[in-house]
This record gives sequence, C-alpha cells and structure tokens, in this order.
Amino acid sequence: MKGNDRMAVKNLKCKECSTEYELGANFFCAECFGPLEVRYDYSGLNPEETRRRIQAGSRGIWRYADFLPFDGKAGDPLEPGMTPLIKADRLSDRLGTGAEIYIKNDAANPTHSFKDRVVAVAIAKAKELGFETVACASTGNLANAVAAHAAAAGLDSYVFVPSNLEEQKLLATDIYGTNLVGVNGNYDDVNRLCTQLADEKPWAFVNVNLRPYYAEGSKTLAYETVEQLGWSLPDRVVAPIASGSLFTKISRGFQEWKEIGLVDGEHPVFHGAQAEGCSPVATAFAEGSRVCRPQKPDTIAKSLAIGDPADGPYAVVQANETGGSIDAVNDDRIREGIRLLAETTGIFTETAGGVTVGVLKKLAERGELNDGEKVVVYITGEGLKTLDANRDSFALTEIEPTPDSFESKFGQEVVA
Ligand SMILES: *Cc1c(COP(=O)(O)O)cnc(C)c1O
Ligand SMILES: [Zn+2]
Repeated sequence: MKGNDRMAVKNLKCKECSTEYELGANFFCAECFGPLEVRYDYSGLNPEETRRRIQAGSRGIWRYADFLPFDGKAGDPLEPGMTPLIKADRLSDRLGTGAEIYIKNDAANPTHSFKDRVVAVAIAKAKELGFETVACASTGNLANAVAAHAAAAGLDSYVFVPSNLEEQKLLATDIYGTNLVGVNGNYDDVNRLCTQLADEKPWAFVNVNLRPYYAEGSKTLAYETVEQLGWSLPDRVVAPIASGSLFTKISRGFQEWKEIGLVDGEHPVFHGAQAEGCSPVATAFAEGSRVCRPQKPDTIAKSLAIGDPADGPYAVVQANETGGSIDAVNDDRIREGIRLLAETTGIFTETAGGVTVGVLKKLAERGELNDGEKVVVYITGEGLKTLDANRDSFALTEIEPTPDSFESKFGQEVVA
C-alpha cells in the first residue's frame, strides 16, 4: 500500500502575501511577484504509520513520498539520497572542540552533489505535468544533475551555464548528450536569460518555472539526518548558501517532522556558509537586514556564486530565528577547509564544501560549538569537480626507481 489516499500535497502559496495557486508550472505571485511555495496538509498523517511507511520504502529520497509534491507515486531510475552521515572525531579533535561533528556526505549522490535531490523531484514533476523538455540555469552542479536525470528519464534537455565554469563540470555535463549552452556572463545573467526563455518556450526550467517543486527536494536532507541520528534532531547545522533554497528547506524538513510528531526536541541552530567573494546573504546578516544587496561574484566557490540570491532574505530570517549566524570565508580558508576535511575524514569535497568547513572552523574558533552537542555539516559536492582549487599547494616528490633514490627523499637520516 502506497497510501495515495493520504497524499498531503495541497497547492502553491505565495511566501509574501499568502495568495494560493494551483499545482502547475507557476513560480511567482501574480499579486505581489513573491515566490511561490508548495503547501501540504499533514493533518491526516499518523506518525507511527508514516514512520513505518518510510522505513518500508525505497532506499533513497522516494521513501519520503508523503512529504513530496506529488498526487500519486513518483520515482526515477537514478534515485538520489540516503547518503552517508559520518561521525568525524578527528575533525572535532583538529578543531579543538568537544562537539560531536557529523558529516553528511552528499557528494555520494548519482552526479556527486546534493543537486540530484532537487532535480529528481523537479523532473518527476515535469513528467507529471506533461513536459517533454527540461532545462536549467546552473552554477555547475545543477548542469550535471539535469543532464543526467533527463537522460535517465528520456527527456530532451537544455543546460545554461556561465561559460567560464570549471572544465570538469562542463565535461561531466556534455557527456549525457544534453544541449550545453555556455553563456558569456555570470550566473545572474544566465538566470535572467532563462527566466525570459521560460516565458517563451514550452520547457520545464527546473529552477525557474518548476522552482517551487525543485526546492522541496532539499527537505530530504533533513529527513535523512533525523533517521540517521536514530530519529532525533541535531543541535546545530552548518550548510552552504547560494540562492538560500537548500538552507531554508533543510530547516523546513525538520520543522515538518516536529509538527507531525515524527521527532521531538528543539529546532536546530542554523549556520549558513558563503564565500567572501560572493556573500550578499552573510553581509545582510551582519548588517541586521534581510535585504540582500546584489554582488558581482569573484570566488573559487563557483557553485555558490549567486550574486542576487532569491531565497537570501528567508535564509537571514532562518539564521536569526534559530539563534544561528551566516558567515563568509575567503578563498584561502576555502582551500584550507577542503584539505582539512580530506585529511581528517577521507572525504574530498569541492570548493562549496571548503566554504562550509571553513565556516565550521570559524565557529569552533569563536567557541560557538558546545561540548557534547551534535553538529551536522552538509557537504554538498565532490572534490574531483574542482580539482584546480588546491593545485597551488600540490607537490609531487619524484624519485628514480631505486631504493636508494627513495631513501634519499623519504628515508630517515642515517647516522653511520
Ligand atoms: C547549488 C549548490 C548549493 C546551494 O544551493 P542553493 O541555491 O543555496 O540551494 C550548495 N552546494 C553546492 C555544491 C551546490 O551545487
Ligand atoms: Zn504574493
């Protein structure tokens, strides 16, 4: 029994003025131009039954069907989710904190970033709504995910990216047979173009006209965290912010499960992470404002380089309401974060993960992590996609193929 009669998804609702809309390819409010969000009615969900249904479900995100925006059954052949949650004791030690740090390694998804979650949901919705072509405006990882999931679903795809993207991300998108479009401009230019095209083309732009559904996919990160912590909440989380969608939706996931009684306890404290070279949300937080003034990005963390973040104001509110913060780190701190995570956990993350670990380190330095508390750090992408980031600190020790040569470079000083 899939429990379709219990499906809770209701409609779309404006986040600013609460006007309600039908569940179609709508994404902004006709009254106030505010963003739309999917609403649910969970009053029919019994916590015990829901928990049993989740545990009997598939291994990935589709086990959370009750909390995703579909009337019927959804699924996909490239199912993301249930990525590892690892207790990182050596990282805690290196940071000199008594907090229990957990790494949620979302690089372990099918195209090696958390974007598989949001894209799987958006493409399932695109199919349900009858679209035959999907598209996206991407900072890199979304490109990989849309191209792959479109291929898996047998849909045509158009992927728009800034033309100066990391080569690894371009190559790993083109391989899926998508129409890869390199736009001479930054992400905000790409996004503007895609918003114009979404008006003209009968296409599902996963993060433009299907954005309300896309955003729902990020809630699954919260659900998995709760399950992996033995149906309990973390005390604190650290997550990266580009548009602010991931950050606010992880929070929504925890909140929903508290509301229906699947988990008890205090809502976790939320810390957001940005790169200094693109930190409109951290800047707004520091100024005590929710207005994110647009910025021209200049950072090695290209996957977070959104200068005009749609959900930035909600991310600021989120950090404030939970007693958290939003910090930014510079490129050197990002590189250092990548190396620190790799050396202490064996996990190689991309620059976005370096931003997140860099901010975690800042929090530890400021004494904001408490002894014994559980801190979950969301690592959202894979290091092989941004190999150049740490090239400057790379050195290869070359030797001749002889033991003497090895000893001369690596051996102990021999005292004759
Ligand atoms: C897209 C992305 C994010 C955050 O995206 P939001 O727009 O804030 O939802 C974080 N990390 C990586 C690696 C990403 O690709
Ligand atoms: Zn409105």
